[in-house]
Amino acid sequence: MIPTTLTSARSALQRGETSSVALTEAMLDRIVDLDNDLKSYLTITDELALEQAAAADHRRAHGEDGPLLGIPIAVKDIISVQGAPTTAGSKILEGFIPPYDAFVVDKLKQAGAVILGKTNTDEFAMGSSTENSAYFTTRNPWDLERVPGGSSGGSAAAVAAGLAYAALGTDTGGSVRQPASLCGIVGLRPTYGRISRWGVVAFASSLDQVSMFGRTVADCTALFQATAGYDPRDSTSLDVPVPDYEAALTGDIRGLKVGVPAEYFIEGIDPEVETAVRAAIAKLAELGAEIRPISLPHTRYALPVYYLIAPAEASANLARYDGVRYGPRLAGADMIDTVKKTRALFGPEVKRRIMLGTYALSAGYYDEYYGRALKVRTLIKQDFLNAFEQVDVIACPTSPTTAFKIGERTDDPLSMYLADIFTLSVNLSASCGLSVPCGFDSQGLPIGLQLIGNTLQEATILNAAFAYEQATEWHNRAPELNVQD
Ligand code: GLN
Repeated sequence: MIPTTLTSARSALQRGETSSVALTEAMLDRIVDLDNDLKSYLTITDELALEQAAAADHRRAHGEDGPLLGIPIAVKDIISVQGAPTTAGSKILEGFIPPYDAFVVDKLKQAGAVILGKTNTDEFAMGSSTENSAYFTTRNPWDLERVPGGSSGGSAAAVAAGLAYAALGTDTGGSVRQPASLCGIVGLRPTYGRISRWGVVAFASSLDQVSMFGRTVADCTALFQATAGYDPRDSTSLDVPVPDYEAALTGDIRGLKVGVPAEYFIEGIDPEVETAVRAAIAKLAELGAEIRPISLPHTRYALPVYYLIAPAEASANLARYDGVRYGPRLAGADMIDTVKKTRALFGPEVKRRIMLGTYALSAGYYDEYYGRALKVRTLIKQDFLNAFEQVDVIACPTSPTTAFKIGERTDDPLSMYLADIFTLSVNLSASCGLSVPCGFDSQGLPIGLQLIGNTLQEATILNAAFAYEQATEWHNRAPELNVQD
């Protein structure tokens, strides 16, 4: 039996009970056994992983230690790893091999982590189920007929199934918190700018943020601690010191003021989700938190505002895929024809977003759509600033439903967009948020509690989640997956 959490794997390494090479080999074997069914990885970087594991063992033998030293982790395939394919889940980047590491990958390498592979994602991170991946759909380890959520669904499924100790994702509108909720693990979306976006394929640049998954709050915190930081190559990254997040996990939340927004318990939310989330909030009260009703009055505009701003930014960012600079080129009669043929490699959702965004930015409509969306975004931000004058943390559901069936929402983009109704506002404002397991529905599918904090208050939400986790048993459950002999 290999250790099940990052923290226990680290202890085993420290005690000399195992080596990074042994852990990595065991993980790679597990991937071979299980990932044919689960489909969480797009690429397995086994050679790189074994090299890194041997190097980590060498560093440990020379007296080094650290939370990630020798720990096998996974990276969403929208984050550049030098020398490994990076597709962003798109055919337009098939075969593209980045010549440099993303800032976060650089950080992981410094920390001595072992990169097992690149995980599946909705194409350019546009989606909530991984069904928009141009390669295949990842399955939910709790029920293989269901989606793992998205867009970072490959990373979430891999961590939930024990095919990585932790994983990186990105969260532009909910793409880490929603799959964390649907897969029964912890997902943190730090404040915009807390982590450099250098080397991350851009979707919507004012909303994108590298984010992470762990089986437990401590595991997720370890990955956050190792990757947070300023980088002059990303002009929006924040030049502020990185606190000791691990030290902040005291489990003491006495006197913590927790706000419950009326607007997040709306009609249409699955009653089993509502019951579990309300019970989790009662648990926080039992642990000494003060619960207060609050209002975020502009919540209902979050979805339309997001679906103007995100596609507008995407339409500009995706203009660079022209068959000249990256990935494949489908040659046509002339330059325009070549660009047209190549850009036909985009999948239907990406095309939809480019068209929506181009329309919203076009002369004559700019003020009416994009300009107005920016103004309403300011009102949404102000809602949060007002709320954080009264409370330290906001508690609500992460997702209105548990994992849905594969294929159930693919013909109805709007129903897919609604999967992120509770997560989008965090990205539109300057807050941070996480999802922590808070129960299961009657079908045995996980439910997540979302905790939202003010700008750069990650330590506060992580500690609240830690206190809750320590007082409950949900994180000890793991999906049953059959290892084939
Ligand atoms: N599901 C949302 C979208 O499709 C959010 C995606 C994300 O956070 N990357 O845009």
